[in-house]
Amino acid sequence: MPSLIPHSRPSLTEEDARAVAEVVRGGQLAQGPKVAEFEGAMASLLGRRGAVALSSGSAALHLALKALGVKEGDGVALPSFVCAALAHAARYLGAEPQFMEVEPEGLNIDPADLRSQVKANTKAIVVPHLFGRPAELEDVLAIGLPVIEDCAQSLGASCCGKPTGSWGRVAVVSFYATKMLATGEGGMLLADDPDLLQKARDLRDYDERDDGELRYNYKMTEMQAALGLCQLARLEDFVIRRRELAERYGLALSGLRVQLPQDPPRGRHVFYRYVLLLPPDRREDLEAILQDLERGGVTARRPIYRPLHQLLGGPSLPVTEDLWARAISIPLYPSLDEAEVDRIVKGVRTTLARRGC
Ligand SMILES: *Cc1c(COP(=O)(O)O)cnc(C)c1O
Repeated sequence: MPSLIPHSRPSLTEEDARAVAEVVRGGQLAQGPKVAEFEGAMASLLGRRGAVALSSGSAALHLALKALGVKEGDGVALPSFVCAALAHAARYLGAEPQFMEVEPEGLNIDPADLRSQVKANTKAIVVPHLFGRPAELEDVLAIGLPVIEDCAQSLGASCCGKPTGSWGRVAVVSFYATKMLATGEGGMLLADDPDLLQKARDLRDYDERDDGELRYNYKMTEMQAALGLCQLARLEDFVIRRRELAERYGLALSGLRVQLPQDPPRGRHVFYRYVLLLPPDRREDLEAILQDLERGGVTARRPIYRPLHQLLGGPSLPVTEDLWARAISIPLYPSLDEAEVDRIVKGVRTTLARRGC
């Protein structure tokens, strides 16, 4: 029995370990100079005036919405085909998540559906660049509401030569263990507006304030920041490797009836996930295909646990429901070795072919 290839695995080096150990030896563990350095490096990566390091991507979404003035009774538009963190961030503030369709090619929020579904109470739009594919933002920005770009999966991606995270009013990032850059847990909020940045900075820390306002403990540690900086230096290598693997998978699977992920016409995909869509007449086989793959030593997953409108309530979204029933994510990350890549390619190709895909 060959060992099971996991669905994700961080890329960690001896240098990463030393950077964390050095912080521990130095004795300054809580938010300090490493955090400030990481914020500066991320702000220049995304071309933003400032960055606020936080304890998670969820915390970044929460403070982004709060800093934009979202409050109880307001609506926040977001795709249903995404993880629950986005809906929770709205709900932390008593706001209502409003679930939108995605477009079937790129799996990103559908600007036409968004435009027609925006309500009088909608105060902000959250646009994830899902699976690392940059969403096209012109039509979303033209609606005129503040846009939060969720770059939890898209560091290194760009559209029209501009990085994801440089388009909207605010960008948020996650450094969770499996993301493009891993610090275990961690997040960041980036923006140009000094008032918005100041508001987020003020809310992440509760001590020594007189006004009695509700604040949080959303700070990042120096260990996380040191690891983040070390990982950031390798981001471009990670992206190149991910794109190389995507090309290999694309060639190997090209004869099948599955829809494969691709660069958008004007953008650069980073293939945070490699998500393929089964043909409509094979959707009933999805669970069986996942099991076949696992028996062959490859862990594949549904890339989204369940559409959010089905978890949390809301009108049906036929495109999203159909995509969810056909989407499979296969392992793609820089720490895969050649033997593993070979096994993935062969395993996925034979399994799909055997199931009539
Ligand atoms: C991971 C993720 C988040 C949440 O980030 P956490 O750091 O886990 O809180 C938000 N949005 C997207 C698109 C994500 O992939």
